[in-house]
Amino acid sequence: MATERTFSIIKPDATRRNLTGAVTKMLEDGGLRVVASKRIHMTREQAEGFYGVHRERPFFNDLCTFMTSGPVVVQVLEGENAVARNREIMGATNPENADEGTIRKVHAESIEANSVHGSDSLENAKIEIDYFFKPEEIVG
Ligand code: ATP
Ligand code: MG
Repeated sequence: MATERTFSIIKPDATRRNLTGAVTKMLEDGGLRVVASKRIHMTREQAEGFYGVHRERPFFNDLCTFMTSGPVVVQVLEGENAVARNREIMGATNPENADEGTIRKVHAESIEANSVHGSDSLENAKIEIDYFFKPEEIVG
């Protein structure tokens, strides 16, 4: 087991419903530690850059519109196998397929408005953390 860092976003559907604390508690109860956190309103440019891998997907434009529709909370999470652990705690992309007790099962509104993002690999976690945080903003 290795201590890792992963990147998380509490998405606009969750901040709009005042669920920042509820979602963060589920992450913490799942064994992850918040070592950086800030509330931002993403620009279109930031969202398009962040989701660049999905540029050719049919949902790309709507996704960028959704992610800029309100504030988000970007976080760095630390813990044992944090990348995989976070994705377990989040549940499947489509809340209809998410396991009971996961963030998306409990809180997500739809496959798009699914409350949280989590990095899908350690390599992408590093890229995504660097995209939003300066090293001095992360305090372990
Ligand atoms: P995330 O990257 O946000 O953690 P994920 O890795 O589970 O989620 P991806 O396949 O990377 O899912 O998709 C990125 C995001 O795009 C999803 O979280 C969701 O908000 C949106 N999305 C994915 N598939 C669809 C779809 N079929 N229709 C609408 N939106 C979608
Ligand atoms: Mg993804």
